Amino acid sequence: MGSGIPHSALTQSAMMPRLVIHNLGHLVTMNPTREILTNAYIVIQDGVIVLLGSGHPLVQPGDEQVDARGGIALPGLINTHHHLFQNLARAYTPIANASLFPWIEGLLPMFRGLNHEDLFLATQVGLAELMLSGCTLCADHHYLFPRATAYGLMGAGFEAAKIMGCRYVACRGSVQSSAARADDWMGESINEILGDCQRLHDQYHQSGPGGMLGLALAPGSIFSGDQTLFRESSRLARSLGLGLHTHLGEVPEESDICLKHLGERPVDLLKRYEWEGERVWLAHGIHFSDHEIAQLGSMRVGVAHCPCCNMRMGSGVCRVQALTDAGVTISLGVDGSASNDSGHMLNEVRLALFLTRVVHGAASMTVDRALEMATLGGAKNLGRLSDLGSLEVGKRGDIAIFPAEDIWSNGAENPVHGLIYCHPRNVQTLVVEGRVRVRDGRLVGIDLEDLLARHRKSAHRLQQSKR
Ligand SMILES: [Zn+2]
Repeated sequence: MGSGIPHSALTQSAMMPRLVIHNLGHLVTMNPTREILTNAYIVIQDGVIVLLGSGHPLVQPGDEQVDARGGIALPGLINTHHHLFQNLARAYTPIANASLFPWIEGLLPMFRGLNHEDLFLATQVGLAELMLSGCTLCADHHYLFPRATAYGLMGAGFEAAKIMGCRYVACRGSVQSSAARADDWMGESINEILGDCQRLHDQYHQSGPGGMLGLALAPGSIFSGDQTLFRESSRLARSLGLGLHTHLGEVPEESDICLKHLGERPVDLLKRYEWEGERVWLAHGIHFSDHEIAQLGSMRVGVAHCPCCNMRMGSGVCRVQALTDAGVTISLGVDGSASNDSGHMLNEVRLALFLTRVVHGAASMTVDRALEMATLGGAKNLGRLSDLGSLEVGKRGDIAIFPAEDIWSNGAENPVHGLIYCHPRNVQTLVVEGRVRVRDGRLVGIDLEDLLARHRKSAHRLQQSKR
């Protein structure tokens, strides 16, 4: 009490029975010694892990119980870069074979008619697929605000996250309006952008342990030249205690564009805009010189590595080990579903394991390291290492439990390695803040069929608006 725990989180959890999960085949703690417990249990009270160990827990009257049937428990996976609205443009033919810049040009016009209901549905569907793949916290970078529907648009995302019961960090993106762009249907003024950031902070952001909803400030890209916006976002984020997020180093052309139009390379620009410190994390982080990698390390920023998107877009390979050695924290992101085109967190861990090996050899990446990026790395980059990222007493109860084996992993010698090396599985149970959100492989309290039907309708309407 009095420790900054948001009132809503307290009232939400005050009536909760203890949750006792038993019969875990493996419990991957990600604690400092990377302990993996076998024949394990875990007990959660009021959203917080209070007990875990091997053997059988003492069950009390009134406890809610989950029999894990020998399953494998991981800390809830943390997705640090996504654009949930883009699942309305999956496998969108006009951008099927496009690299980043033509991809952006081909994608955006489809979203002129994006409204609150579309975003509400896209966020629910995006979180649903992530949750089924083990994700308990998603950072959603939304930067598309058509003039007609811009006001209050991000509220639709927050309301959708509340329904799904997944932790949600809205990264309030933006594209500054420009007189130079004749058809500027989605630009906003700096005052509109920063005013909305302040409003969203006041209305939704929950600071302190256990917060379910959060806000970060996230101008779209550094080469767009919105210098004042980058500077002012940094100031506002610092004054409100929020994170800062943007794309950086996704394509090699970025450096030349920045040098030509802004006079400096991207990382120098970040420094100029005062984007430094642990609350800054950057999506992709592929195209950096050795000098820039050293700079990023000394700036103590993080990188959201997005292997599937990088492969799909042909963007390149993030130098995970060099960045890590320099002091950059690496987390994982599935990125938007117009460039993935499905948000499956366990698959992203698998691809993170494999993609580094393509360039640096089989010993360059391990399962432990890939899991670390998806858990502790994500928690660190989102400023949540004190309450999320590992399964330890005192941390919040965010747990992904996968079936011990399936047809694609049957007979695996090392079941935990099998979870990553073999074909990606869906969870059998997902717990967020001590609440069971997926039971027996199905989302609790969500009519998925109806949701998918409504989402499909939105997607087809927007896609056909450009035919
Ligand atoms: Zn992105």
